[in-house]
Amino acid sequence: MRSCLDCYREFERTSNSRKRCILCATAQRRIRAAEHYASHKEEIIIKNANRNAKNYIRLSVRQHHISIFGNKKGNGTRSCYSGMLFFKDWDPARGGSFQAGADWIVENIGERPNENASLHVDHTTGLGFAPNNLS
Ligand SMILES: [Zn+2]
Repeated sequence: MRSCLDCYREFERTSNSRKRCILCATAQRRIRAAEHYASHKEEIIIKNANRNAKNYIRLSVRQHHISIFGNKKGNGTRSCYSGMLFFKDWDPARGGSFQAGADWIVENIGERPNENASLHVDHTTGLGFAPNNLS
């Protein structure tokens, strides 16, 4: 047994480096995390915004898939997308991934779509939701 550095309660010694009981160790981790956030707030906000932008593109790819094929319950299709093709490598139903589509979009179109710019599918080519048919 060992005495906690903060509350002096006895606790089971699981390793030599442990100096606090579970409760105090958890509390200390929370304080450290809050301190870290306070001193890196700006970077963290930018990092999260970038991650959300990337997520947003993946979600947009997924949303187009739903507009064409519907969700698991078959809901969410939109008539203007009915019968549209969806690129195989981006289609999880056929071994592809939405992320692959999102990666292609970021590389070739840029950080679009974002909250301000939606993804446009060319309806005239018959290629559907596929590389080189988006803008
Ligand atoms: Zn303690």
